[in-house]
Amino acid sequence: MQRKTECACGKVSATVEGDPFRVLVCHCDYCQKRTGSVFQVSCWYAREQVLEISGETKTFSDSANSVGVAYNFCPNCGTTLYWTLEQAEKHFPGISRFIGFAVGCFVDKNFPKPNYVEQVQYRHHWVPEFSGIPEFDSFPPADVMMPPN
Ligand SMILES: [Zn+2]
Ligand SMILES: [Zn+2]
Repeated sequence: MQRKTECACGKVSATVEGDPFRVLVCHCDYCQKRTGSVFQVSCWYAREQVLEISGETKTFSDSANSVGVAYNFCPNCGTTLYWTLEQAEKHFPGISRFIGFAVGCFVDKNFPKPNYVEQVQYRHHWVPEFSGIPEFDSFPPADVMMPPN
C-alpha cells in the first residue's frame, strides 16, 4: 500500500510504501516552536520505503536544539514535510536508516496510531494522555526507540 504526503501548497510531495516503522508523539519545547502546535506527531519510514520525494526544499538544522535533525521544508508555504537524520547517528546509532515525516501532512485519518509518547515533561496541562501506549518523560531508552540491528 502506498501513501502520498504533501505540503500545504502542494509543491513538495512524497510517496511512501507500507506502514511506518514508528509513529510517535513528542511534546518537547522544540517541537512546539518548530510546528507552532503544542505537540508534534511524526513517523519514521525506512529509506527503502520512500519511493519518491519531489519538489525543492530548504533545510533547517539546529544542532543546539535538536539531536541533529535536518528539517526539510517547502520554501513557498513553510510546511516541514520530512527530515533526515544523518547527524543524529552519533546519538542514536542506526537512526539514519530512516526518514522522518510529519503525520499531519498525510491527511489520512486511518494512519497508524502512535507507538509511544515522549517528552511528556513538556505536555500542556489540558492535553489528555493517550491510552494504551507507553509514555516517557524524556526520550525513550534506545532499545525502545531503535529497531534491533
Ligand atoms: Zn508548499
Ligand atoms: Zn520534540
